[in-house]
Amino acid sequence: MKTDYLILGSGLSGLVFGALMAKSGKRVQVLEAHEYPGGFGHTFTMAKKYRFNAQLHYVWDCGEGKPVNRVMKRLNLDKDITFERYDQNGFDHMRMPNYALDIPSDSQELIRRLSDLFPEDADKISKFVFEVKKIREGLKI
Ligand SMILES: Cc1cc2nc3c(=O)[nH]c(=O)nc-3n(C[C@H](O)[C@H](O)[C@H](O)COP(=O)(O)OP(=O)(O)OC[C@H]3O[C@@H](n4cnc5c(N)ncnc54)[C@H](O)[C@@H]3O)c2cc1C
Repeated sequence: MKTDYLILGSGLSGLVFGALMAKSGKRVQVLEAHEYPGGFGHTFTMAKKYRFNAQLHYVWDCGEGKPVNRVMKRLNLDKDITFERYDQNGFDHMRMPNYALDIPSDSQELIRRLSDLFPEDADKISKFVFEVKKIREGLKI
């Protein structure tokens, strides 16, 4: 079989690229070294009843018109693959011996919560969160 694209690895990047090319009429072949496809995005079962994801915990930018949503639409998968929003007031719950922190979606609220916990580092926390925001904006498609 003539192949237009030979993709090594069936992680999210290989699968998305392969699916987009196949949808546009190209012949695609994906080779995977592992016994399951999906790379860091795959899920596995242990002791027959516990399901783990390999790495992926959150998927950003899947709202209407955002990059993930646009790719799903292009592949006609947006009705089949849907996303649930995490709790915006605390999508992660950190419990340490001396403090507890629920991580909110809003960066100002995150700065406020962290600064309450570590008042002496409030300036550094604020600068760090701002830098991360700037990088994120710069990476947006
Ligand atoms: C701890 C951790 C947590 C993360 N959490 C998140 C998160 O919450 N949200 C998020 O968006 N991102 C998260 N990421 C990042 C995300 O998992 C990766 O960016 C993404 O999965 C990478 O996809 P990929 O297709 O580039 O590579 P991979 O998922 O690594 O896939 C590569 C594939 O190639 C295969 N392969 C390798 N070599 C060969 C070969 N020679 N021949 C054939 N096959 C081969 C591998 O077996 C694998 O299946 C996290 C990463 C880590 C490490």
